[in-house]
Amino acid sequence: MAQQIADRRDVDFVLYEQFDAESLTQHERYRDMNRKMFDMVVSEARNFSIKEILPLNEEGDRVGLAFENNQVRVPESFHRAYRLLCEGEWIAMTEDPEIGGQGLPHLIAQAAAEYIVGADFSFGAHGFATHGAAKMIEVFGTGKQKEMFLSNMYSGRWGGTMVLTEAEAGSDVGNLSTTATRNPDGTYNITGNKIFITNGEHDLTENIIHPVLARIEGATAGTKGISLFIVPKIWVNEDGSLGEPNDVVCTGIEEKLGLHASPTCQLAFGGKGNCRGLLLGEENKGMRVMFHMMNEARLGVGALGLFNASCAYLYAVNYAKERLQGRDLSEMMNKDAPQIPIIRHPDVRRMLMWMKVHAEGMRSFVYYVAHLFDRTECAGDEEERTRLQDLVDLLTPVIKSYCTDRGFECTVQAIQCYGGYGYTRDYPVERLMRDSKINSIYEGTNGIQAMDLLGRKLGMKKGAVFMDLLGEMQKTVSAARQAPGLEGSAEKMENAVNQLGNLAMHIGKTASSENFRVAFAHSMPFMDVVGDTIMAWMLLWRAAVAAPKLEKAVGRAEGEARAEKIRKNKNAAFYEGQLQSAAYFIESLLPLTLGRIQSIQADCRAVVDIPEVSFGG
Ligand SMILES: Cc1cc2nc3c(=O)[nH]c(=O)nc-3n(C[C@H](O)[C@H](O)[C@H](O)COP(=O)(O)OP(=O)(O)OC[C@H]3O[C@@H](n4cnc5c(N)ncnc54)[C@H](O)[C@@H]3O)c2cc1C
Repeated sequence: MAQQIADRRDVDFVLYEQFDAESLTQHERYRDMNRKMFDMVVSEARNFSIKEILPLNEEGDRVGLAFENNQVRVPESFHRAYRLLCEGEWIAMTEDPEIGGQGLPHLIAQAAAEYIVGADFSFGAHGFATHGAAKMIEVFGTGKQKEMFLSNMYSGRWGGTMVLTEAEAGSDVGNLSTTATRNPDGTYNITGNKIFITNGEHDLTENIIHPVLARIEGATAGTKGISLFIVPKIWVNEDGSLGEPNDVVCTGIEEKLGLHASPTCQLAFGGKGNCRGLLLGEENKGMRVMFHMMNEARLGVGALGLFNASCAYLYAVNYAKERLQGRDLSEMMNKDAPQIPIIRHPDVRRMLMWMKVHAEGMRSFVYYVAHLFDRTECAGDEEERTRLQDLVDLLTPVIKSYCTDRGFECTVQAIQCYGGYGYTRDYPVERLMRDSKINSIYEGTNGIQAMDLLGRKLGMKKGAVFMDLLGEMQKTVSAARQAPGLEGSAEKMENAVNQLGNLAMHIGKTASSENFRVAFAHSMPFMDVVGDTIMAWMLLWRAAVAAPKLEKAVGRAEGEARAEKIRKNKNAAFYEGQLQSAAYFIESLLPLTLGRIQSIQADCRAVVDIPEVSFGG
């Protein structure tokens, strides 16, 4: 079976029919661009993905990495694809052309990233992390640092990482023990051991630039005493040329469940007392700088949840159309009845539908946030810019946590659709499941994201940002009321939005009362409710766009005549799929979310009250 990646029809629907990407060209920033150009970018990304990146999965997963003499070798096939990634300028899609970028809108770059990063994250992580590290230097670096690093990183000639984690400092970054001491020449000496560093060592690039969190000797404990340093694997002279190797040694790589071609490295900085770094930003303000990269990475990892879900769904739906097994329900007793493709069994359709609605809902959600970045850049006044940026901040933990959890669950459902074959290495869905599990763990575990949503984001501007989000949902409810046949769904959605508002007030109050532990014991269920409601919102929005177009395509035809028209018209079939997705989510899944709202409001104390000894173990 052909390797699967994002459905182009759905990508185009979200870009042009849901979010009207073409209208971006009316803004000064994108004045010289047009639809044709956007289409070309997405098509090139898709072709590159299908021809060069998807095929890497096989060797990457089965052969993986080689580690010898403190050096990591990536699979041979990665080298050609990486060269093409750099030549295609895919690393800095949204950056200004003057600094080596393509100057594209975030919305279009998101679609391209779905093809390039989503095809194989062992490979995609190279561009992903390098971009994040370079962006930090672009935003917080000195003029000299930008000159020294930016073009070589955005072009992909040098790789980038993010270096936070230590054995005793995982979720609790503030507990790190890596130290920095000032040198007379303005550089800093870095000493410490880091673990789990993605792409900390490899042979794809001539240099690797590590942004390293460390504490300057004498600085206060906790996150407030942390600074950030640019630590090149090979020292970079002020004129940008390469100097001596720096004292950074890869002492080992992890053996992992998935992402077998992605080096997860243990790095020793300053083992010989000779590791130099440059301060990025101000002393003791490193976390503020690093959060820039972490937020970008959280959105990027959340998007991976969508990418995994989308691939898993497409594999499952194609398999289900081909695999013959069992007879039609109406022919159960007829031994002579022919076997049917499993897609005709209602329970298989249920699984496919579950994957379909989540893949589509997440695509709209992830692209919506990308579009918020564009709208922020194009906004006419400061107040609107702040409002849109606040929405991005509020939604970042939701994208990270909800999408990665649902993405993983979609890969599990895909295995279930395949039956026993799905559990074998003969089919790609078991690899997808293994590769996608990490997404809920790194870039801040999903548990920590849920705490962030409840503890920080919900209360932003005294709850006004959350209320603004609910207001955005209401706009879709109003639009859906005007669309043919969506009155009932709009009403149910409105009820869910109101209930979410009540829940937010309830759990917000509990979180700031003496019962705060009870609230935080429900932070993940609250995250699920927020994410589910966003799915319903996005799917209703899609349906409101699709309904009039479908009506136009099939006219007043009913029954078999209507079905026939839908079978014969690809666009009509797509729009009908949108109506069915919204109906399924709102009728079948949203009531479960409403039940979850009730369960959170019941403030069950068991999780908090159970004595540790009663856990057994
Ligand atoms: C493949 C891979 C790649 C990685 N890449 C990088 C990288 O490039 N750079 C980097 O710096 N790190 C990287 N990491 C590290 C990753 O970010 C950490 O593993 C993650 O932050 C969790 O830290 P930990 O493993 O120490 O788990 P812990 O922090 O020990 O967490 C264990 C469990 O306890 C929960 N928990 C911990 N503290 C709290 C709390 N205060 N409240 C509620 N629950 C809590 C967590 O949610 C989790 O469920 C990578 C890890 C892996 C496996």
